[in-house]
Amino acid sequence: MMQPTLTLNDGKRIPQLGFGVWKLADEKAPEIVGLALEVGYRSIDTAAAYGNEAGVGRAIAASGIPREEIVVTTKLWNDAHGYDEALRAFDASLKRLRLDEVDLYLVHWPVPQQNAYVETWRALMRLREEGRARSIGVSNFTVAQLRRIIDETGSTPSVNQIELHPRFQQRELRAFHAQAGIVTEAWSPLGQGAALQDPVIQAIAGKHGRTPAQVVLRWHLDLGHVVIPKSETPARIRENADIFGFALDDDDRAAIAGLDALGGRIGPDPETFG
Ligand code: NAD
Repeated sequence: MMQPTLTLNDGKRIPQLGFGVWKLADEKAPEIVGLALEVGYRSIDTAAAYGNEAGVGRAIAASGIPREEIVVTTKLWNDAHGYDEALRAFDASLKRLRLDEVDLYLVHWPVPQQNAYVETWRALMRLREEGRARSIGVSNFTVAQLRRIIDETGSTPSVNQIELHPRFQQRELRAFHAQAGIVTEAWSPLGQGAALQDPVIQAIAGKHGRTPAQVVLRWHLDLGHVVIPKSETPARIRENADIFGFALDDDDRAAIAGLDALGGRIGPDPETFG
């Protein structure tokens, strides 16, 4: 499979297509992540909070794929904000994954009411200096929160992983990312499946002889996002990776741009969650 990649602001590369594992049971992770690796995914998105780092680590070990060919992302949970806490949480994640380093370590949520995310970010900067987190980034950060860590530490996250799908297009945040050199990573890229029911998406899929999921993922790729769709169904895992052999046209892109007005957030609001 052809694997387009993006270059992060630290010079490292990340595949545009990754495999998300939220809600995947730890016991099932070796089989499902193993299948994803077998069909060509080379980037896996887990988190301490998902409870499946151990299963993801087992799948990677069993795959026989050289470690340097797989991008592994994990995330620091909301109970581990603060400098020392973050360092400890990172060690615990590495141990569960049974890895010596991760490719991308993210602060999962800013939890502004704790007012600790700048100190947490300083811990991630240290982990990157030590080479144990090859790249570092954040998730669910607003423009103001991104500005604050950049201003106070001089270090710009490589990635902000945010809720992003056709009915919640986050234009202002994406524009800030582009200006600041932050890669946009889309979580719930399929709107947790809801985007696939949209008649506009379905019509575009029909026109190209593709599935709604493939159209939505292709739209993300064209906008320069990293996508991390999740599925436990083998046919869908394959379908979601088969997105490189067709192109959307300007009419398709304009029609999908128009869906933003219809929707909104599915997940929690980063200003209050945590
Ligand atoms: P998603 O948009 O990837 O949708 C997944 C759901 O869509 C599946 O459970 C299935 O019901 C359906 N689906 C998937 N492929 C399909 C197909 N080809 N045809 C029909 N239906 C299909 O939603 P998600 O799992 O919420 O997000 C993806 C990943 O993003 C997660 O697994 C996780 O890794 C990450 N994530 C991160 C955060 C965060 O706060 N950073 C939050 C949510 C999710």
